Parts: sequence; C-alpha cells; structure tokens
Amino acid sequence: MREKLAELKRLLGEVSDLNAAAAVLYWDQVTQMPPQGASARGRQSATLSRLSHQLLTSPQVGRLLDELAPYGETLPHDCDEASLLRVARRDWDRATKVPSSFIAELSAHQSETYEVWSRAKEAADFPRVAEHLKRTVELSRRLAGFFPGFDHIVDPLIEEHDPGMTVATLRPLFAELRMGLAPLVERIAACDPADEACLHLGYPRAEQAAFCTFLQKRIGYDFSRGRREISPHPFTISFGVNDVRLTVRIREDDLGEALFAAIHETGHALYEMGVSPDLDGGLLAGGVSSGMHESQSRLWENIVGRSRPFWAFFYPRLQGAFPGQLDDVALETFYRAINAVRPSLIRTEADELTYNLHVMIRFDLECQLLEGSLSVLDLPDAWNARYEQDLGVTPPSDREGVLQDVHWFGGIVGGAFQGYTLGNVMAAQIHGAALAAHPNIEHDMEHGRCDTLLGWLGEHIYRHGRKFQPEELIRRATGAPLSVRPYMRYLATKYGELYNVGDLAVPGPSS
Ligand code: ZN
Repeated sequence: MREKLAELKRLLGEVSDLNAAAAVLYWDQVTQMPPQGASARGRQSATLSRLSHQLLTSPQVGRLLDELAPYGETLPHDCDEASLLRVARRDWDRATKVPSSFIAELSAHQSETYEVWSRAKEAADFPRVAEHLKRTVELSRRLAGFFPGFDHIVDPLIEEHDPGMTVATLRPLFAELRMGLAPLVERIAACDPADEACLHLGYPRAEQAAFCTFLQKRIGYDFSRGRREISPHPFTISFGVNDVRLTVRIREDDLGEALFAAIHETGHALYEMGVSPDLDGGLLAGGVSSGMHESQSRLWENIVGRSRPFWAFFYPRLQGAFPGQLDDVALETFYRAINAVRPSLIRTEADELTYNLHVMIRFDLECQLLEGSLSVLDLPDAWNARYEQDLGVTPPSDREGVLQDVHWFGGIVGGAFQGYTLGNVMAAQIHGAALAAHPNIEHDMEHGRCDTLLGWLGEHIYRHGRKFQPEELIRRATGAPLSVRPYMRYLATKYGELYNVGDLAVPGPSS
C-alpha cells in the first residue's frame, strides 16, 4: 500500500506541477507579456490545462484510488494521507464527470462571450451580449447536469468553489444576514456622510508603493517568498508555499485603493504561504474554498485593516510618509474615512457594510436564471429593481448595472458569487475565535505586532491547506458551525458606534 500511495502522490504532484506552470504563464501574461504574445500564450496555457486534466483523470489515478480506498478507511481521519485520498477522490470524480468535448465547447464560448461583453459594456448595450448570455445559461445548466444527485440546479456549481454549501444552506444564511443588514444600512444612509476628503489629496505612487511594502512586511508577508507587481485587477497567485505573488493597483487620487488592495491580497497570500510544507507541491496545498480564501483576505482587510487598534500603530507612520497631506488629519478622521458607508452601484467599490447586498442580489438572480424563473431578456430590469429595493440606487445604464462584473460573461452563471459573502461571514467567526484564545491580539496590534493573530490563523486555518471541508475547518477552528451571528454582532457594534446608531439590536450568541 505504501508503494501505491507513493505512486499516487507522484502522479498528483505532477498534476500540481502542471497547474503551477500554467499559473506562472498566467502571472507573466498579466504582469509582463507584450500584447502580441496573446495568441501563443493562449495555446500554451490550453496545452498545459489539457495535460493536467488528462493526468488527473487518467485510469491509472482512478485505479490507484480504488485500490487505496480500503487502506484510507483504516487511517485517522485528520492525517495527511487519509485527507489526500478523500480530496483526490473528490477531485477525480468531479473531473471525470465532464466530457472534454464539453469543456472545449464551453471554453470557446467563454472567450467569444468575453470579447462581446467587453464591447457591450463599453457601449452600455446589454442586448448586444444577451444571446451569448442565454447560451452561457444553457451551458451552465448542462454543466450542472453532469453531476446528478443534487437538490438544486445551482448546487453542483456552488460545490466547485465552496464544497459542502448548497442553495438550501445558503438561502437561510443570506436571509438572516439581509434581515440584519437592511435596517443598519437604512439608518446609516439617513446619517451625515463621513468626510472622505483626506483619502483624495493626491498621493505619489512611489511613496504609496513603499508604504504598502512596509505594511505588508509588518503584517507578515515574506518578500523572500513573494513578489508584488501592479495590475488593473489585484489578485494573488501561488506556485508553491515559497513563491506566492500578488498585485495591487495604485491611484494617486485614492489612497485607500492601494492600501486595502495590499492588505486584502496579503491576506490571501498569508493563507497560501502558511500551508504546511508537508503538503507543498501536492493536491492539498492551497486554500480549501473560495469562501475560506476570501475570509482570510477580508479578515485582514476589514476586521484588522479598518480597525482602530491597527491604525493606532500604522497611522502615525502613514502621516510620516505623507506629511504634506496628513499632518493635520486626525487619526479619528482617517478612521471614519476608511469606514465610510455609502450605498453605491459598483460591487468592487462598495464599503464593508453594503458589499454583501451586492453579492446577494447576484446570487438570487443567478439562481433564478438557472431555475428558469427569470429570462435573460428580463435580467436588466430585475437587476435594476433589486438595486432600487435593496440599496436605494438605480444604475444610469447597464454598464453600471448588469454588465459590471466579468463573472457571468467570462465564466459560467452560478457558483462564483456566494464565496464573497461567505468569506465575510467566516472571517468574523474566525477572528472571534482567535480573540477568545488570545485576548491580547488587539493590544499587540496597537504596537504593530500582527504575529499573535497570524500565529493563531496559521495553526487553525492555514497549515491545513485543503485537508478538511470548509464546514469542518470552521468547526475545528472555532468550535461552532458556521453562523452569521458573529458577523452581524461585529457589524452592528462597529457601525453602531461609528454612526452613533448604537441602539440597534445586537443579535445574541448563536444557539
Ligand atoms: Zn479576494
């Protein structure tokens, strides 16, 4: 059995190597590649993903998994080998269910749709891409159909990104969240808006980049195992625990842009860098789900990076980096500016509080599209109606409305949005558990020491990689099932104080 296990690990290691090589090509494409390189790069990337898929779904891997299954049963559930066998079986099952002819058809349609969408968005012309989107909905339904045994058409698509989550578990969670958020957002919308002028005073790029480096290092990002570049859409990418890179976007007229992208992406990177070296180069290296990954970026970006203890240390240093701009701006003014709440049209620019409303609108609409209860032609009206209802704003055109996100137009419909809100919900529960274990975390933060929190996250989340399903990881780390209560308590306390609407009902502990 030892030999068979070693053989399986070797094959899966090769799958990971091919995926990492494809990731390096992608990194290069986004940060370095000259524009004329696109068509050769497309071919090279397609070759690598085909080889990786072929190897993962090979009969050899299937046979080894069958032969090793009884042995896996005898191992302790949480050991690396048992976890590898569980996760490899799941990956193999999913990868072998979808015919490669379908993947080719879908991928050709996706590239074409992306091109049409780019022009349609530019022209704010939804009808131009409507036929393509109809076909995407059809293909997404067909993709879901390859995975029988689910209760809802969207479930297998959610399973791909957030394993263990279903429409039936997400709907009540989101409903509870919306019930808590709506009155909070409404009360705050009636308050005087926060003064955000100090973030828009003009900040030279080089100094912003230098401050981001300082900030990232203090949080725990190891530049000898990472690298930062500039890209229009910030992201993090891992080629192994010792090479985790990220990008930020810097705008001279908006200080928050680079600061919070740097902290957000550092959160993603710390997760990848914190995976146990024993798992490096294998199937279990990397984050377990979209939601869990997003929980780590949001925890650092929002719960830590928009908190008073964090800036108690960093703000005097930020003032030192930008004396002309911030000398006369008090910490409290800056703190209020970075936590300003304003119902808005664009998800990616939304504040911490209203962000989830954007996500839940998309989640509901994609469920309806796939269920067949909403037609693509009615989608823009449904979108606008929900924005009016949930956020009190109406897009002036489809560019600021239904066409704003790439997800439905460069991928499939279903499965990609719930992770953002799940991440916020998980982040609060995880942070609460860390605080309970180390009540000195915030005190340490005030002195610029992030290692107490980082150490706890490494021990309870990062090092496990993909070993446990998200729900199991949450339970192991926090001692409780996933709940929106810690998140609602966090938001109500923070924003109640900020906007002086402190008499809001704060939900009690989860029962
Ligand atoms: Zn993220």
